[in-house]
Amino acid sequence: MKRLLFALFMVPLALFAQNSDSIMLKKISDDIFLNGKCYQYLDYLTNRIGGRLSGSPQAAAAVEYTFQVMKSLGVDTVYLQECWVPHWVRNDKEIGIIMNSKMIGQQQVKICALGGSVPTAVGGITADIVEVTDFAELKKLGKAGIQGKIVFFNHPFDVTKISTFDAYSEAGKYRWNGPSEAAKYGAIGTVVRSMTTALDDTPHTGAMGYNDSVPGKIPCCAISTKGAELLHTLLKDDPRLKFHLELNCEKLPDVRSFNVVGEIRGSEHPEEIITVGGHLDSWDTGKGAHDDGAGCVQSIEVLRVLRSLGIKPKRTIRAVMFMNEENGGRGGDKYFELAKKNSEKHILAIESDAGGFSPRGFGLDMNASQKNRILSWKPLFLPYGVYDFEHGGSGADIDDLKNIGCALLGLHPDGQRYFDYHHTPIDTFDAVNERELKLGAAVMAMMVWLASEKGL
Ligand SMILES: [Zn+2]
Repeated sequence: MKRLLFALFMVPLALFAQNSDSIMLKKISDDIFLNGKCYQYLDYLTNRIGGRLSGSPQAAAAVEYTFQVMKSLGVDTVYLQECWVPHWVRNDKEIGIIMNSKMIGQQQVKICALGGSVPTAVGGITADIVEVTDFAELKKLGKAGIQGKIVFFNHPFDVTKISTFDAYSEAGKYRWNGPSEAAKYGAIGTVVRSMTTALDDTPHTGAMGYNDSVPGKIPCCAISTKGAELLHTLLKDDPRLKFHLELNCEKLPDVRSFNVVGEIRGSEHPEEIITVGGHLDSWDTGKGAHDDGAGCVQSIEVLRVLRSLGIKPKRTIRAVMFMNEENGGRGGDKYFELAKKNSEKHILAIESDAGGFSPRGFGLDMNASQKNRILSWKPLFLPYGVYDFEHGGSGADIDDLKNIGCALLGLHPDGQRYFDYHHTPIDTFDAVNERELKLGAAVMAMMVWLASEKGL
């Protein structure tokens, strides 16, 4: 009986000791679900400010807004990091028309310019259009098959890939490299199938890059997946089909812009920095809710919950709104440049740039000892449905910090629906669920707190 009583007494004591971390994590979670502001911040960022392409007035407004929000949280300091960003504007002409070979039947399709594209000649270009699935087919057609034509890259997302990001990186090269690859063979324009598994009429924009060693920059656009299917079917019936493309986008001089940084100084090891961030810029066709308003407001939420619970973190915590991830990465470059110049000791950086969906895990990019440390905390995350610590991948804005020994983490939410919205007009506030957004913020805050308490 005595032994039983002893056991009954000791078990809860032991559990209490083991569970002090999990009790703090639950406090963080409760506070975010009850008092969290990230959803309101996202409402403002998307509905009041809107799409925030680098160099736009909206991007500047987002800098001002997030600066003021972080100031209002009473953190130790909020400051800007100046960076000069590209300024590409879409303007108002985005016309894609399929014409039969006799140029009498016409069908307008939904297209949008790729970010960075040159415009077409005034009045547009009309030419034969030739479909390829990949670069090997392009090469096979060669100059004889391509010269003077518009190339249609119809490379569908691989639906068998469980990670939609894997499908994206495979298909993405036709958006990024397609125009210069086609220009090598004398193409005069490119049309790329939108990067998504969704079959709808929403074109997905995104950055492309001209290869300086290839002469001739040709205009390029994305076509909706429904448009791509239609074009594919019509081309089968009539291989002499023509396509009319008109774009009046343009590149303007670089604009002065900023990263926005909010900081709570560490109480015991202020020199050790933990960065959590997202990118403040977004594409212009939508409102940048999932990409990446979500990551920004979640990062601000991390600062808010620490203040709300009166936590004095042992290490310095920074929330960073990176500028210009979408079409240049200048904000991430500037952050790294300053970290290096000031010999800052970054121990951990977390980026949320994969949508505001339910978190499922973290991507780990770090050395073995850092990995072991993070993995030892994995059981604490299981009650929150966060279990996947096996896949790599952190974030474009923090990637360089690896070079100064910083451990990198990417928040990995459920990615099955992310590419329904990615870089589209439908990436709006209503596409983000409040609970899912908050749960993502909560697990980021938990990770930040653990790293701050225990070090890496
Ligand atoms: Zn993004």
